Amino acid sequence: MPEPADGFVHTSLPGRVLLGAGTLDRVAEEAGLLEVRRVLLIATRSARDAADVVEIGLKDRFAGRIDGVTQHVPTDVAESARDKARQVEADGLIAIGGGSAIGLAKAVALTTGVPILAVPTTYAGSEMTPVWGETSADGKTTGTDLRVLPKTVVYDPVLTEHLPMKVTAASVANALAHCVEAVWTPKADPITETTAVEGARALAAGVRQVLEQPSLEARSNLMYGACLAGSAFASAGSDLHHKICHHLGGTYNLPHAETHAVVLPQVTRVKSTAVPRAKARLEHALQTADLAAGLYDLVASTGLPTSLRELGLTEDQARAAGRVFDAEDILIRAWAGTRPEGATR
Ligand code: NAD
Repeated sequence: MPEPADGFVHTSLPGRVLLGAGTLDRVAEEAGLLEVRRVLLIATRSARDAADVVEIGLKDRFAGRIDGVTQHVPTDVAESARDKARQVEADGLIAIGGGSAIGLAKAVALTTGVPILAVPTTYAGSEMTPVWGETSADGKTTGTDLRVLPKTVVYDPVLTEHLPMKVTAASVANALAHCVEAVWTPKADPITETTAVEGARALAAGVRQVLEQPSLEARSNLMYGACLAGSAFASAGSDLHHKICHHLGGTYNLPHAETHAVVLPQVTRVKSTAVPRAKARLEHALQTADLAAGLYDLVASTGLPTSLRELGLTEDQARAAGRVFDAEDILIRAWAGTRPEGATR
């Protein structure tokens, strides 16, 4: 990670972001600013009411709607969404939901170039990235393409007021992984580091607030953190942590966000020593004396699993995955759920 005085290269991605309670009411107007005339709405089932509001607001810009999405963007679901977009002659997409709804809109944008306006209802951060993914019988394919980067993102914390604690915690773990890994990837730079540290601070503060007393302030902090996390990930890319999680998800069908939650503290224990300045900044942001232990404790406080064993992985499978990355120690600790040493609770 270069010091500013060493010089660096940073790529900022284009995009407009609105955050605030009640911004759902501005989605139709924002679609107008993108100059789209025929909008296909894609909404997760849990966001049906919000999609109704947007549909009414769009008036004659509304062209069609897909209600209900499937996790990990299966190819057949992506194909039928593309067919629907063609049928209704969509020149704009509005995705309302978590990473799965936004992922489906990205699958349509990838082949059609139709712009996306995203309205996230979780904290996974996909709305800020040009990264797409699609799952077929042969496994998950991912790629990066600026056509799938949403042009506008509208964060309305009211939409996450009733997000169940389990989904809240899981998507925050996903966002935290984006922030933490962003400080040690080969593309990390002082701007992504600052974005990532502020993202981690907001996420940790939001989680603590939600656990104590769910409030709009807590939800706003989490959305702000998710925005910064996605943005840091989009610029800095990923490294060992995301590779391990991708492998575990693809090979052993482990749940995406929970795997992030378990693996992150263990990878951090090893990788963060190479970036002492960022490690210290993240420790300050998370209010912990040791980054890896602090992350472990934060995950544990939300009730998420802390071991791969709890997610159904066997010790032999953990060892085999460890050999793929020459990281047996990390995988065995993650399997057992060993709290990283360094700080006292
Ligand atoms: P999700 O979109 O699958 O949603 C999880 C569950 O929560 C679903 O059942 C959904 O209906 C429900 N839900 C969503 N919002 C809700 C709300 N406000 N209230 C009540 N229920 C609600 O989960 P996610 O964690 O947002 O996204 C995970 C997916 O996103 C994964 O497939 C992951 O690979 C992808 N992802 C992609 C990127 C990227 O940059 N491309 C980044 C992060 C995650």
